[in-house]
Amino acid sequence: MTTTILSSIPERLSRLRLAMQAHGVTACFIPSADPHLSEYLPARWQGRRWLSGFTGSVGNLIVTADFAGLWVDSRYWEQAAVELAGSGIAMMKTNSAGSVAHLDWLAESLPAGSTLAVDGAVLALESSRALRDALAASGVTLRTDLDLLDDIWADRAGLPGAAIYEHLAPYASVSRADKLALVRAAMRKVSADWHVLSTLDDIAWLFNLRGSDVNYNPVFLAHALVGDASATLFVAPGSVDAALAERLAADGVQVADYAAAADALIALPAGGRLLLDPRRVTLGLIEAVPGQVESIEAINPSTLAKSQKNAAEAAHIRVAMEQDGAALCEFFSWLEQAQADGQRITELDIDEQITAARARQPGFKCPSFATIAGFNANGAMPHYHATPESHAVIEGQGLLLIDSGGQYLCGTTDITRVVPVGEPSAEQKRDFTLVLKGMIQLTQAQYPSGTRSPMLDALARAPIWEAGVDYGHGTGHGVGYFLNVHEGPQSIAILRSPDEHTAMLAGMVTSNEPGLYRPGKWGVRIENLLLNVPAASSEFGEFLKFETLTLCPIDTRCVDLALLREDERAWLNDYHAEVRRRLAPRVQGEALAWLNRRTEAV
Ligand code: ZN
Ligand code: ZN
Repeated sequence: MTTTILSSIPERLSRLRLAMQAHGVTACFIPSADPHLSEYLPARWQGRRWLSGFTGSVGNLIVTADFAGLWVDSRYWEQAAVELAGSGIAMMKTNSAGSVAHLDWLAESLPAGSTLAVDGAVLALESSRALRDALAASGVTLRTDLDLLDDIWADRAGLPGAAIYEHLAPYASVSRADKLALVRAAMRKVSADWHVLSTLDDIAWLFNLRGSDVNYNPVFLAHALVGDASATLFVAPGSVDAALAERLAADGVQVADYAAAADALIALPAGGRLLLDPRRVTLGLIEAVPGQVESIEAINPSTLAKSQKNAAEAAHIRVAMEQDGAALCEFFSWLEQAQADGQRITELDIDEQITAARARQPGFKCPSFATIAGFNANGAMPHYHATPESHAVIEGQGLLLIDSGGQYLCGTTDITRVVPVGEPSAEQKRDFTLVLKGMIQLTQAQYPSGTRSPMLDALARAPIWEAGVDYGHGTGHGVGYFLNVHEGPQSIAILRSPDEHTAMLAGMVTSNEPGLYRPGKWGVRIENLLLNVPAASSEFGEFLKFETLTLCPIDTRCVDLALLREDERAWLNDYHAEVRRRLAPRVQGEALAWLNRRTEAV
């Protein structure tokens, strides 16, 4: 079996090279991307994976006549080394997510007069400019009108087109008509007649619709064109039933074929002004816009609006957190009991049990991402995934890291906890406590409204840096409301440039997840979701603080109390009192006993 899979990669590459030759192309660049610039790609757009055999979610493949290389960041170095072995594809290391090392390689390695092909349909408008700039100086021509995969990928999947459904009141607390009015008001501000959207979470939010075309994110494949008085949703044929089409029509929303989006742009009247977000639409789609239509570039109004949850949404999210916390009590009490009984438990069992516990809660739809359950050395890989072929048995002594989340009609959750297996060592307790201190320090911050979110990252890191250690990922990401578990525009990430769209505003939900990883030994990460709430106002302006949304005990067996300040210990005890108060009415029996045990004051 293995040999068939391995030999097929060189075969696919040679077919690609033949297609390149036929089109007069020197090099081909295949990013991990789709026409909606999504994090999770439908099978149809997993061409980079199909061509390279690399199963990680992020990687840039470049193929020339005599070279093939896959650029991956440090999260994937180990995995790529294994998966690329024997494929003829070299692993090219980049330092961090978003690195442009592959652009530099292209600019340096392609001779003047050569042609680089990349499918413009999956390339963000902004990225296409960076690519053009990188190539311009070296005299390389960029071709974006070719989808070479189509020539060579015989069993390529078609478009997904699962049924689209409404996100209804009370969970959807703002009507579709009101959301459209809000977007049109933003369009008027910049004198735009039209607005085009391709990002699936923006579209799902704006139209109060959800779907299941993408793993873990309750979204559906679509583009949308909003005018002054009209709006058109371009969706897979058959995905909207007659009753829903009628309800959409009542709000002035027409349904059209997914493939007709480009034609609708081509037909835009001359002299019109089109609002678009260069980070959230592709070059391929925007190339359809006629020259006589003026583009106005700005962030999607819906991206900013959906990031700021209103009071009704925040109330629903608090319920989602109680449900999720109750599910976690059931899960963790099962885990402790199973270990006490000497049951053989693997990392895969964790995923199964945690998902089953969530599925018993009302309104649960699916996990919000693939559960990360990593024991000891596996926990030291922040994006580790256990597989049937490779996973650890949880036995002996050490730390078990579990990062998981759920999609509920009333909200999206994302939580990381670390629990001890056997008695944790002094070093393990020290690492856990440092991470806890960082988590608490960020939680307790008060900051001016509008503070650029990347700046806050240092607060979580300070106690960790003080010990001469660090972690290689951002501290926090925005979280959607029954939408994507990763959403912008805010991001508490040290490497993110603090541009104007990263401003912290009331109602935003952001994760707080510092970590500490000892390669080959163990990993620690503690993650709560936080809501931005008003704190105070003074002659210096409005200030915000965080309300902790996530409700689940933080295992005090891993805490070195000598390292905690008095106020940190008080925070931990207050948090546990709140967790117990909110979750106790939702659990019984063993789960309740576990909750009481794990929320005892220290
Ligand atoms: Zn997480
Ligand atoms: Zn997270």
